[in-house]
Amino acid sequence: MSVLVLNAGSSTLKFSLFAGRSTDLVADGIVEIPTLEADPKDAVPAVLDAIRDGISRDPVVAVGHRVVHGGRVFIGSVPIDARVIDEIGRLSELAPLHNPPALAAIGEARRAFPGVPHVAVFDTSFFADLPPERHVYPLPYEWYAESGVRRYGFHGISHAYCAGRAAEFLGRPPEGFRVVTCHLGNGCSAAATLGGRAVATTMGFTPLEGLVMGSRSGSVDPGILIHALERMGLFPEELDEILQRRSGLLGVSGVSSDFRAVQEAARVGNERARLALAIYADSVRAAIGSLAVAMGGVDALVFTAGVGENAASLREEACRGLECLGLRLDPGRNRSLRPDADLAAPGISGRILVLRAREDLHIARETLRLIVSK
Ligand code: ADP
Repeated sequence: MSVLVLNAGSSTLKFSLFAGRSTDLVADGIVEIPTLEADPKDAVPAVLDAIRDGISRDPVVAVGHRVVHGGRVFIGSVPIDARVIDEIGRLSELAPLHNPPALAAIGEARRAFPGVPHVAVFDTSFFADLPPERHVYPLPYEWYAESGVRRYGFHGISHAYCAGRAAEFLGRPPEGFRVVTCHLGNGCSAAATLGGRAVATTMGFTPLEGLVMGSRSGSVDPGILIHALERMGLFPEELDEILQRRSGLLGVSGVSSDFRAVQEAARVGNERARLALAIYADSVRAAIGSLAVAMGGVDALVFTAGVGENAASLREEACRGLECLGLRLDPGRNRSLRPDADLAAPGISGRILVLRAREDLHIARETLRLIVSK
């Protein structure tokens, strides 16, 4: 028996196939969604073909789906039924780019695997019980109570996986274990997890808040946005486009939203590319400090996702000055590692880990947990 995990984005459908309860990865892959149609359901048959093409003869006993926004409704993973599908659809208002592809993939996968349970695993659930002082914004309270304006947090699947994996990797019991996880990909966020529970995170009501990202601004003075609307004559849609797609590394450097491309430009002397990287590293460093303090200290710092796993120079920059938190990386280990790895300097209490992003594994485990407990 095997468990299929689907992760539908706006331009790709990622799949992973696991061998039953052992959650050994049997196969995985990415199917590009034709941009003309841009409908993830069209990618599902390609995944089925790939599975049928002999990767596995075992029957698929359950399908786990990544869903970005669970709103206030989904505080944990759930088996999918018609009511759940309706609710995820309603939440598309809060996640217009993210929930519709997941819904399309769910619909198609349920047609392809009608007899088996499908499970939704949400990126927001890990942050559903952040303490009130970390999820209520200092805005009119009615916005929170009546309009759903709160910190939801995102990348929770990745942060939950990494926090658990860090404890496992270091052989520490989860109780009292304090870990700061930095998910640095195209989108970037960081989170503090204490004893297996998230206690703070950088992304907020939307995935725009917090760290500097490839093309997203992260946190900026809200007064700038009012200035742009009132004095610079921007329409809200234009401002949205600028904050989502033309800010961050791309906005400052003018080169690219791709970390590697900006690094290359900086290497050959592009000053704005250097500045963009410096702002980026500074935002990561500041977040680590704030998240560590939220837990009264930190036992392990984790880097994951494309930039976190691969950019040694960023890790070095981001860790500069963190000795005051008991964190110091070993430059040699940092430069030559294969995740999962520990790159903390010897003799230092805090550990610094690079972990491979494995959202698929977390989704598979959640899926199995739910179908077993049913
Ligand atoms: P996503 O958030 O879309 O899943 P990834 O986790 O794959 O994205 O991260 C993409 C980012 O990782 C890009 O900015 C890319 O430049 C960066 N990246 C990938 N490999 C490297 C590398 N070897 N060095 C520096 N950055 C890298």
